Amino acid sequence: MLEKSRYAPLFESVRIGPVTAPNRLYQVPHCTGMGHALPQTLVAMRAMKAEGGWGVVCTEYCSIHPSSDDHPYPFASLWDDGDLGNLAAMADAVHAHGALAGIELWHGGSYVSNLSTRTPSLGVRSAPARTDPVQSQRMDRRDIRELRRWHREAALRARKAGFDIVYVYPSHGYLISEFLSRSLNDRTDEYGGSLENRMRLLRELLDETRGAVGDRCAVAIRFSANGHGDEHLNEDEARDVVATLGHIPDLWDVVIADYDEEMGSSRFVGEGALEDRVAYVRKLTGKPVVCVGRFTSPDSMLGQIKRGVVDLIGAARPSIADPFLPTKVREGRLEDIRECIGCNICYAHDFRGAALRCTQNPTMGEEWRSGWHPERVPVGTGGSVLIVGAGPAGLEAAHILGKRGFQVALADAAEEAGGRVSRESRLPGLAQWARVRDFRLGQINRMPNVALYLDSRMQESDVRAFEADHVLIATGARWRRNGIGRWHARPIATLNPSGVYTPDDVLCGRLPAGDVVIFDDDHYYLGPVIAIKLADEGVRVRYVTTEGRAGAWSQNTQEQERTQRALIEHEIEIEVNVALAAFDQSIATFACVFSGRTHMVSASAVVLVTSREPDETLYRALVGEEAEDGVGELREAGRLARPASVQRIGDCLQPALIATAVYSGHRAARELGGTEQATRRERVLI
Ligand code: ADP
Ligand code: SF4
Repeated sequence: MLEKSRYAPLFESVRIGPVTAPNRLYQVPHCTGMGHALPQTLVAMRAMKAEGGWGVVCTEYCSIHPSSDDHPYPFASLWDDGDLGNLAAMADAVHAHGALAGIELWHGGSYVSNLSTRTPSLGVRSAPARTDPVQSQRMDRRDIRELRRWHREAALRARKAGFDIVYVYPSHGYLISEFLSRSLNDRTDEYGGSLENRMRLLRELLDETRGAVGDRCAVAIRFSANGHGDEHLNEDEARDVVATLGHIPDLWDVVIADYDEEMGSSRFVGEGALEDRVAYVRKLTGKPVVCVGRFTSPDSMLGQIKRGVVDLIGAARPSIADPFLPTKVREGRLEDIRECIGCNICYAHDFRGAALRCTQNPTMGEEWRSGWHPERVPVGTGGSVLIVGAGPAGLEAAHILGKRGFQVALADAAEEAGGRVSRESRLPGLAQWARVRDFRLGQINRMPNVALYLDSRMQESDVRAFEADHVLIATGARWRRNGIGRWHARPIATLNPSGVYTPDDVLCGRLPAGDVVIFDDDHYYLGPVIAIKLADEGVRVRYVTTEGRAGAWSQNTQEQERTQRALIEHEIEIEVNVALAAFDQSIATFACVFSGRTHMVSASAVVLVTSREPDETLYRALVGEEAEDGVGELREAGRLARPASVQRIGDCLQPALIATAVYSGHRAARELGGTEQATRRERVLI
């Protein structure tokens, strides 16, 4: 079947130095928020990618020495033989499914603060760390010799642990890229000055890695094909590096200078966006090349191969959203692919030091902890389930319960399914978010045991009349109209109701006009996105936030700077560190969050993006105020024979991220009719 498939070229093997990748689908190194801290969680997650058919599965950044300590971010480490076991477990698990295992050796240079090891960080010159008020130690010749020794020893350990591909990593501002930088590298010896000298360390590390492990392992380089900006390594110099060193590594894993774009969210960056800047590398080196592009379409992947851009399709996020993407392409089940929506919630959690999670794939990070498989669910106990609300939580629950064999009815008051995802995906830049709805609708539409009822508002009596065995309430949440949120614990005393709007109004097409203030106390995407929507409609917008930047939380999703730039480009006035204190007649009063000083501006309307109120009216009508376990008390009192259980899920339970709603629907659906699954916990024991 595969031979006849147009996608067969994606499943050709590729020789990479002394090893052979079984296919062209390559999970590039990506952070997980697990690293050395959660090894079992990590092994199970990486193994799942290999099981799903990725031909190569790599680690995250793997520190070679205690002087490269990125605490509190849980990186991988190969500091001594004590680290071997955990990494060998990952390599073994990946090999068990026929994939190659890659490891990205890393030294953070001046970027890290070594908060855990308390060793001075090392730099080509003494430079400030990324966040903390500390600087690195300038490296002398002896330090460079030591660094080379650590790198070589780490490479040998990587081979011992069973890895097939060993990376040298001169990108993303870490130590080796400091040496390449014309600004940071002020050395007057053979490691500074000319480009040849600045790339000396990189050349030595490549040669020495090859010398140490090249007989059995491929040597890969992760390199920014368009340099690191004119200040550091300009585009011509980057080409010179590729031309000069092109023959040494067995594989070029190419990235670009702008991390916000390389890792860009779908709000700002499309699929395959790196092509124009990386395509030359393959022609110049003749070596296999891999590059990411948030590829979820096998046709786009095929295009990359056919046009000779790359030999291997790199993926981090698409492999997180769907570990089984390769298997599905191979089997021609394209409609089953859970496509990444480009929201960067995965990255955000790693950035917050927490284990990876995913909006589209609720099993991500739960492979070991909860024993979840992204494609398999336990067979159900039978019976019927009524789900009220077809937003992300209700849709996910219907999908999983349908798969488990329950008889499922999914009812929604709206004329379309998808809840907040459908509404929000019509806002500027959020179109791909509709994939959360579309994937699940696609699945349940093919399930004879799942029925979807739209335009069906359910009251308590309707639910009881339905006589389902189990009821899941997924009625979502509504944005508060009174200003309560992070800043205001109580309603704003003076609010002229006729001019007060919430995101729900905007999402339903009820738009304010004139001079509009957006008060953002939520700090994520919705305030700025609504500001842009209104500006596009010709409204004069003033964006006001209690934080110091527009959409401040989106620094975690690597979107904050582009968000602020977009507001500026839309000529939206931005005021930071202020709270809306009052809105009366046509005057909005703001208070400085530090001094309390107030000032006023004229405004015809305010949009309050503050916090949400769970819509639990129906849930409360069914279970009352006390029965937190759902129905226990009511059944005991003889007031309820059926349903046997009533639960809240999604935003109705806890207004939060779309990812949280999907996860909540998934967990409830997996556990329904059985006992609640205990999650396992990784911890250090003495
Ligand atoms: P979540 O993110 O938790 O899935 P959403 O707000 O996206 O929540 O979706 C909630 C859905 O529930 C909406 O589509 C809304 O139309 C629907 N809904 C709310 N109340 C009722 C009700 N009483 N009957 C049927 N559908 C309802
Ligand atoms: Fe894609 Fe969002 Fe999942 Fe990350 S969290 S893999 S960006 S869908």
